[in-house]
Amino acid sequence: MGEFQLVIPKQLIPNTLETYHQTPLAGHMGIQQTVDNISEQFYFQNLPSTVSSYVRSCHDCQERKMTKAHTKSEIISFRTPTEPFQTWQVDLFGPLPITQKGNAYIFTAVDMFSKLLFCVPLLSSDSVTVSHALFQLVCTFGVCDCVISDKGSEFISQCTDQLCKILEVNQNFTPSFIHHCLGLCERTHRTVAERLTPYTKKGIQWDNMLPAITFSFNISPSDSTKYSPYEVVYGFRPKFPLSVSKLGIDLNSLHSDYHSYMNQQIDKLKLIREEAVVNAQKASEIMKERENKKTNPLKLNIGDFVYMLKEVVGPGKKLQPKYSGPYVVHEILSPHIVKLRERDSGKLFKNPVHLDRLKIAFVRAPNPTNYFIPISVKNEQTLNEIEKRAITNSEPTSNVVSDEPNSEPSVNNNLRTRPVRQIRKPMRYRISESTVADTSSSEQTDNTFYKVKRILAQRKRNECYEYLVQYKGEPAQNAIWTVENQLNEAAKQSIIKRPPPVID
Ligand SMILES: [Zn+2]
Repeated sequence: MGEFQLVIPKQLIPNTLETYHQTPLAGHMGIQQTVDNISEQFYFQNLPSTVSSYVRSCHDCQERKMTKAHTKSEIISFRTPTEPFQTWQVDLFGPLPITQKGNAYIFTAVDMFSKLLFCVPLLSSDSVTVSHALFQLVCTFGVCDCVISDKGSEFISQCTDQLCKILEVNQNFTPSFIHHCLGLCERTHRTVAERLTPYTKKGIQWDNMLPAITFSFNISPSDSTKYSPYEVVYGFRPKFPLSVSKLGIDLNSLHSDYHSYMNQQIDKLKLIREEAVVNAQKASEIMKERENKKTNPLKLNIGDFVYMLKEVVGPGKKLQPKYSGPYVVHEILSPHIVKLRERDSGKLFKNPVHLDRLKIAFVRAPNPTNYFIPISVKNEQTLNEIEKRAITNSEPTSNVVSDEPNSEPSVNNNLRTRPVRQIRKPMRYRISESTVADTSSSEQTDNTFYKVKRILAQRKRNECYEYLVQYKGEPAQNAIWTVENQLNEAAKQSIIKRPPPVID
């Protein structure tokens, strides 16, 4: 900090901030650096907080700089189904090395209740092939209530849509761009890949290995239910080549009939599934807690301004803005998904957006000094003009003279009038102007200026009563004499109710 700091007037603060943050030499530096640089020379009240809010609301900075605070929203899991094969998460895995049979993709489906995996090798990822795999799933496990997928083209195609309509299956989508919503499939893909690799390394075709790998997956206890998917579905563990029961049959364990076998089986299944549900809930709580500790949930309200992360592609992507916006939050569809609209045109976005792509936008009010300067010049000019014309030609000019008593000449219909209008003249000028220009409506039209506080006295002038009126926001010494028909109804009533003292 220098020996002296220049205290700068309020009106010059915006320009100082602009110079010290967004001119090329300032290069959009951060908050602390800008504070340091400005306070080297200047002082004004609340300097650090003013600079901070200025820099934070810089559009260029917000568009480019990635947020340090991770705005990833809290993980919410999908509603847990109550029995196997109600809800499937489906996805595509690939492209993989093309096999001799021509397969390049795997259609994967994971049952949300039992975590049972179903895989079909696919020749391609087109929607007809994928729909066919979806139909195979239904043929194996029956019609489900709901299929969850991402918004890949193969899942939103007309073909898939029609198939789901025919089967009366609800299609649920996770927003594109966000993959953790499909956690179950993602994790499964990783496991399947890990288990396939040792075989493909030896030159075995992966599609030949897929049924065995799927089986091995389904008999491994799941992290969440603590049971293998196979057990949750069938109620027992599958036999292996070396399983003990292969060696001999315990005659005492044989059931006398199917009925007793079924009963025992149902009881066992009930137990396993109840326990699996409890375990899955516990696991999901722990997982949610762990994930949410890392996150900084974004709380949005309707009308908030936000920036949206965009997919930047092409050779110049390192130098491209990372966000677009600001946009306005139009509707909150769920804790994670909102609808946006354009700020200026109000145009709605077609697709809802996941919170993970958004960050709060700090929108700055326009710099008022930009409006002050041209106004004063313009006013001077127009006033001179009026004067000149008044001298040479008594006809008033059409666009500069306003009929409104209080508005400045030339600047009605213009946004720039705002700062000028807010300059309040002493009451006597305002009243006298209004008396001259408009005798009847001034009281009613602009009651912010002319609200009567109280009536101090009355007198008679030329057979007419006048009242000494103190207006709201004005001291008593500014009270002025006003004729009766200039008062509003409330004031007249108060005179009748409580007549002010008569003076001469
Ligand atoms: Zn900036």
